Amino acid sequence: MQENDIKFLEDSFKNYYFEHFDLIRVPHRTSEREFGFQKFNSGMTRHITIKDDKELHLLLMKNIPSDVYCSNAYYSFPNLPMSEKDWKEADLIFDIDAKDLNLKCRENHTISKCNECNEISITSKYCSNCNSIKLEKKSLPCKNCIDASKAEVIKLSKILTEDLDVQQNNIHVYFSGNEGFHVYVFNSQFQQLGSRERSELTDYIMFNGAIPETFGMKKFKPNRSSFPDFEEKGWRGRFSKDVYGSKSKRSKIISELIANGYSSFQKTLDEVSAKIGAKIDPNVTMDIHRIFRLPGSLNSKSGLTKIFCDDLLKFDPYSQASFLSENLVDVVANCPIEFKLKSRKFGPYFNEKVSIPTYAAVYMICKKLASIY
Ligand SMILES: [Zn+2]
Ligand SMILES: [Zn+2]
Repeated sequence: MQENDIKFLEDSFKNYYFEHFDLIRVPHRTSEREFGFQKFNSGMTRHITIKDDKELHLLLMKNIPSDVYCSNAYYSFPNLPMSEKDWKEADLIFDIDAKDLNLKCRENHTISKCNECNEISITSKYCSNCNSIKLEKKSLPCKNCIDASKAEVIKLSKILTEDLDVQQNNIHVYFSGNEGFHVYVFNSQFQQLGSRERSELTDYIMFNGAIPETFGMKKFKPNRSSFPDFEEKGWRGRFSKDVYGSKSKRSKIISELIANGYSSFQKTLDEVSAKIGAKIDPNVTMDIHRIFRLPGSLNSKSGLTKIFCDDLLKFDPYSQASFLSENLVDVVANCPIEFKLKSRKFGPYFNEKVSIPTYAAVYMICKKLASIY
């Protein structure tokens, strides 16, 4: 990224951190957490501790980080190297990202930027100008991406509360600042689980590796009464609701399932699990030493804020997570896709000079689709 683009992003981020201290707070049990941050065009600084809000604000104003992180884990000595930190426990965190949902809309709003000649093209495997395959993909997520991610958050919350004894008020949902949501679970029975157990938990939540026998199907002489009832709890109940459709169809569908045989059942099971399992990123949940974007901080992939979603269904990231200033700035924009921020439409722009509000300029510059004029 160019020098004056970085300068502009730093000024905008600094302004945000100065004016929105109210949005960015240290998490509880602050002194047991590891913090980290990144600056524009530079590496990660980790293994630091922060005492309170004041110290956090000082760090933000002094360093103007592009991204700020905090561990979900609690340690005796968070500022020591990993092997000496003395891990105590960690909140359970789930990452749901639109890019992992295989959505059809994605190809309509993914842009490829050529690393050789900077040519911008929409969804191609090679550069339309120089044929290079060194392309950087940038996505401008649409409403469908956000709605699909919300649906996964709702699925996940249901599984957590219905099957895993998590209290609804201990589930906190945050918009990640880019293309998805982070779901935090506090004070659960899972606080002290290690990585392997968390991995098993993700298999359960994603409905991975289910076998026909669990749902009553057997290779030889399956017994009709072993098939799930419509009202059952857990995966047997969810499976039956999806496969039977209604209570009255149960008997007829079971007959069909038995007649079609074991391997056909396995196929049905795989299809159903891909549909009704929650699409979380298992690697994030099983990593008990990770540092996560700090709520209230800006995401340097977009300039949007990672923010708590009070009412998930009504939440609109493009108006509720955009906090940067309205001040006009001149940029050269090369963004062939239209986008919407703060209820205003921008683009498409074809390598042209435009005067736009700071929040929109930052959004495009973060995605490398514009440059300060
Ligand atoms: Zn090229
Ligand atoms: Zn989309």
